[in-house]
Amino acid sequence: MMSGSLILQVAVPFPLYDTFDYLPPPGSTGAGIKVGMRVRVNFGRRQVIGVIMGLNDQSRVAQNRLKRVVEVLDSVPVLEQKLLQLLRWSSAYYHFPIGEVVSTALPKRLRQGQKAVVDGEVVWRITDPGRLIVSDQLKRAPKQLALLQLLNKSPAGLGGAVLNQLQYHWRPAMKGLSQKGLVQKTNRPCLVPDHGPADHAPQLNGQQSYVVNAVSSRLEEFTAFLLAGVTGSGKTEVYLNLADQILKKGRQVLVLVPEIGLTPQLVSRFRRRFPLPLAVLHSGLSDSQRHCAWYMAGLGEVGVVIGTRSAVFTPLARPGLIIVDEEHDASFKQQEGFRYNARDISVYRARQYGIPVLLGSATPSLESLRNVQLHRYRLLKLRERAGGASLPGFEVIDIRSRKIEDGVSKPLFEEMYRHLEADGQVLLFLNRRGFAPVLICHQCGWAVSCERCDAFMTVHVAHRSLRCHHCGAQRSRPQSCPDCGSLDLRELGAGTERLEQGLRQRFNDTSIIRIDRDTTRRRGEMQTKLEQIHRGEHRILIGTQMLSKGHDFPEVTLVGIINVDYGLYSTDFRATERMAQLIVQVAGRAGRAGKPGKVILQTHQPEHPLLQLLLSRGYEAFGEAALQDRRCADLPPYRHMALLRAEGAQPHAPQAFLEQVRSSTTKAPCKGLNILGPAPPPMERRSGMYRVHLLAIAERRGPLMELLDEWIIIFKSMRSTRKVRWSLDVDPIDLS
Ligand code: ADP
Ligand code: ZN
Ligand code: ZN
Repeated sequence: MMSGSLILQVAVPFPLYDTFDYLPPPGSTGAGIKVGMRVRVNFGRRQVIGVIMGLNDQSRVAQNRLKRVVEVLDSVPVLEQKLLQLLRWSSAYYHFPIGEVVSTALPKRLRQGQKAVVDGEVVWRITDPGRLIVSDQLKRAPKQLALLQLLNKSPAGLGGAVLNQLQYHWRPAMKGLSQKGLVQKTNRPCLVPDHGPADHAPQLNGQQSYVVNAVSSRLEEFTAFLLAGVTGSGKTEVYLNLADQILKKGRQVLVLVPEIGLTPQLVSRFRRRFPLPLAVLHSGLSDSQRHCAWYMAGLGEVGVVIGTRSAVFTPLARPGLIIVDEEHDASFKQQEGFRYNARDISVYRARQYGIPVLLGSATPSLESLRNVQLHRYRLLKLRERAGGASLPGFEVIDIRSRKIEDGVSKPLFEEMYRHLEADGQVLLFLNRRGFAPVLICHQCGWAVSCERCDAFMTVHVAHRSLRCHHCGAQRSRPQSCPDCGSLDLRELGAGTERLEQGLRQRFNDTSIIRIDRDTTRRRGEMQTKLEQIHRGEHRILIGTQMLSKGHDFPEVTLVGIINVDYGLYSTDFRATERMAQLIVQVAGRAGRAGKPGKVILQTHQPEHPLLQLLLSRGYEAFGEAALQDRRCADLPPYRHMALLRAEGAQPHAPQAFLEQVRSSTTKAPCKGLNILGPAPPPMERRSGMYRVHLLAIAERRGPLMELLDEWIIIFKSMRSTRKVRWSLDVDPIDLS
């Protein structure tokens, strides 16, 4: 141990679990250096940008072996204390290297070492006191009054370029206003509010008021609320009303959504309701736009931040409320690299700041329902649709031994004719794109499978090819069977492409549109198609999962779910939950404008108890029963899981890696903690790699965390080998 001079503990952007000790830059004693600042350091043979995570006066490394940082890049920290602590906690909870966690939180430009400040145009803005007196006082200062009125109409502020066009010398008047505290000079680098007509807020109904009051009576403390509201019950109105209260207190709202592209309606409703700068963080932003939004949010210049998963790490100067919309959605969990769950982190973050967090969904996750049972979350409900629309009725069609043409049974066809004749729109949902999931030899049963995956290839007619949906591999359609030479190759099953083709033949004078990843690949295509639907240009809509989220189709009176069975036969224990969420979400797209909707489900398992329960008594009853099943089966949320995945070009190396981890483990097996494997997952080979899993299941989280701590030590001690790629997934939501 040495002590004396200041030691900087630096997180570097590499897959390393520890921070590294450095001395202040040459010639500096360390005065003015703070945690959260970026530094340029020599690391190995490279220079990289790191972040100071801590300051210390001693190091385990001898003084003469410590390097100095090359330079300190910031004069103010880019990550404030609480955010740093959030990152440290996330790194510890997910057992993921700190440097990479920090990288996730920083915009690319800051990771590259560019300057943190985004400076731009200087603008003058009216202040709250200014707004109060804009109409009645200042009678003796007409120029000041005129200026104030002008600024009142420009909430984003006005810059010199605009003000110089005025007919008078505005600077002295502005100075006068500024001295009275009625205006304020700020920087407006990059974010500009919309000036569109502001939406009028509707009067909340009784149940909405109850929910809003429940939250707003606790704005100064941490509470996690689960808002379970049926589709169309006015959850978004609740968000808007609460956001309004928070903004009036001068505080900020963070809204997390699954995918911006699929929820444009939510973003535009926020924009129209609040004529303030609003930051929307999504993957389509340029690096400088992202940097700007991030910086402005950290300064407190942005009232509302709406973003996907990674926005949970946005710096906030004055946070007041966190909202997670569609909290059940799997996209809050990152499925590669740093496998965090933004919903869970947002709850931690709200607790950190002592503010409420509101998790909203029509179909809450079983994890959240369990947290309600444990009194960790407080449940709030919206039971009825706002605006009087009724929820659709369900009908199950037993398709066992029925003739199915291009995926559709006769009763569904008949129902489609009826609704189309009555001028309704019909939405058919099928969660499988392409023409057919399998191409099979009718003589001998051979089927085309992917050379790199243990999976069949999907037939795509439009592309004249077969494609693997797991690795993207393509091949042309074989002319004959390589095993028996037969020319009789047939498509088995139906995807959206086949559904569309079949319906075009049958309904040849009806306009049909298909929305899936194949038809919305180009930029803007999704938007264009949705607009066509809303203008009523299409009568039959065919779609995958994409159509189950976010968008409302008020003219749709009939929803057909082509195949419910994918959810009932799957090996994934979460499949039934996902199926129920999907059914309810798809059903909720229909019949909003007061037109009653109908939902038809085709299944081979009409008597499946959970399906029956869902349809007869609704999602809440389903949730209770599904939780009971999970309890009996010792599965999450009654158990805690961590999955260690390994893969390699040869099966031996990943297997040996996991065996070594397992045999080095001393913490298990102990009571309430089981380790399963190493064993291959259902799809053993994917993208040419052999995969092996080691799964830890624990009754309590504490012992699981201890086990993972031990695993990290084991990983560090193992010689790294290029033959194995491995990753640790804490609270995995997908075990495949
Ligand atoms: P959700 O987010 O639960 O799907 P929304 O907030 O989008 O529900 O509300 C569904 C529809 O009902 C929207 O068109 C919305 O404008 C309308 N709505 C919601 N609350 C009210 C209200 N209190 N009065 C009138 N209309 C409302
Ligand atoms: Zn054959
Ligand atoms: Zn493949």
